[in-house]
Amino acid sequence: MEKYLYSNICEISEYQYDVIVVGGGTAGCIAAIAAVTEGARTLLIEKNIFLGGTATGGQVTPMMSPGIPEEAELSYINKLVKKRLLEQQYGAADPYGNDGWFNPEMLKFTAEDIYMERGGRLLYDTQFIDVIVENSTIKGLVIYNKGSLQAVKGKVIIDCSGDAVVAHSAGVPCLTGDEIMHQNQASSLRFMVGNVDIPGVQEHMKRIGEPMVLEYPFLEISSVWDSPRPLTGIFQKAVEDGVLTYDDGRYFQAFSVPGMPGVVSFNCPEIPGIYNTLDPDSITGIAVTGKKMISRLYTFLKKYIEGFKNSYILSVASVPGIRESRRIQGKYVLTEEDYNNRAKFDDAIARTAYPVDIHGLIDEKKLDIRPFQKGEYFEIPFRCLVTGEIDNLLVGGRCISSSFVAQSSVRIQATCRATGEAAGIAAAYCSKEGITVGELDGKIVREKMLEKSL
Ligand SMILES: Cc1cc2nc3c(=O)[nH]c(=O)nc-3n(C[C@H](O)[C@H](O)[C@H](O)COP(=O)(O)OP(=O)(O)OC[C@H]3O[C@@H](n4cnc5c(N)ncnc54)[C@H](O)[C@@H]3O)c2cc1C
Repeated sequence: MEKYLYSNICEISEYQYDVIVVGGGTAGCIAAIAAVTEGARTLLIEKNIFLGGTATGGQVTPMMSPGIPEEAELSYINKLVKKRLLEQQYGAADPYGNDGWFNPEMLKFTAEDIYMERGGRLLYDTQFIDVIVENSTIKGLVIYNKGSLQAVKGKVIIDCSGDAVVAHSAGVPCLTGDEIMHQNQASSLRFMVGNVDIPGVQEHMKRIGEPMVLEYPFLEISSVWDSPRPLTGIFQKAVEDGVLTYDDGRYFQAFSVPGMPGVVSFNCPEIPGIYNTLDPDSITGIAVTGKKMISRLYTFLKKYIEGFKNSYILSVASVPGIRESRRIQGKYVLTEEDYNNRAKFDDAIARTAYPVDIHGLIDEKKLDIRPFQKGEYFEIPFRCLVTGEIDNLLVGGRCISSSFVAQSSVRIQATCRATGEAAGIAAAYCSKEGITVGELDGKIVREKMLEKSL
């Protein structure tokens, strides 16, 4: 590299790529698949040794439905991944039509296969550290692996880190949390329990009067203090008995997992008192407090819920459950007004009718939000992936340009995948045509997505 900022570099490997994707998570692996499918020489950098990020390592399963008919969805790779998972019996559709149930361990395999089959290059165990920026262009990325710093070069960079680490390092304006206090939504540490007698759990739920019990093999159970239901009474008793704390029962949700008989995946515990998800002490807090809460929840399940008597803790997520952190303030900032107006855009690259869903911080009922009626949705314009500062940078996933409230709707996996796909297609196009991302008309990306999703 001509102008190198790091004096203690041991090795400099000068890879040349059309597109480099930072972060192989929910959005990033789709971005890389899209770019390589478009013929771009693509490098995907991921700090873990698997793809899928929050969806796999974070054990966030199932995918919530975006609430629109499949034919209206713009991401063709989302459809491809779901189809492949269904064929492999690592995915499933529930009786209500949500085909987003999946096995998070096997998604690691499926995502990697789809990317590698297309000839993408992958660097695991590799962390993005910094950018080298000249004249509004990222000239190189500084990465770290196995004890050495290296530089890699790509014509177009896609930031799918969840935390907008590349954009932030490149000086793009970013926000974190709500717009006043800059506090983040509640975080969780998910876990899975094995050897559960799922029909036994279902019988117990029916007996206590839970109104909606899914048919085996599907299981979904939940309880929160402010919307009590029969299961909440059992939580109340466990708090009185000193088995659980009040915080342990604040948000409880669990699902069965396709392809993993007898396994239940927990969308909890929600960790109290974590308001800054960019703070390493907070991440440590999620891991330490989270495990203590998991331990209590597991004791509770064995003692109070039938079907868990002979179970064991199968795994604790290796990726913390962070719903939001830093997000860019790009060419267009998606807001709750767009949500309320069911906004449509010429350069739309994603659509969703997923509700505003803010955990822990704000009571959504107090917000001026109009719930979606059947058939309604809003769109995300391509400009939410584009910064005003850097000519060769795109962003995908939960850190796209949006307000705190709008992010809580667009952060679900299906939407993250669509933004990743749009970024991948756009990056390949810009690299091929030799134009900046700001020069690209988002309508072209939309057209390409529409063409492929039919
Ligand atoms: C607890 C919880 C429950 C949720 N529930 C649901 C749900 O039920 N259904 C649903 O659809 N969605 C749900 N979501 C939302 C959804 O799962 C996430 O918003 C989405 O997965 C985020 O995707 P992403 O690609 O932006 O980030 P991630 O999937 O987190 O990917 C980011 C990737 O970047 C990598 N990375 C970060 N920094 C670096 C670096 N410096 N160098 C290299 N790699 C890096 C990470 O390792 C990771 O792989 C939930 C989220 C959470 C946390």
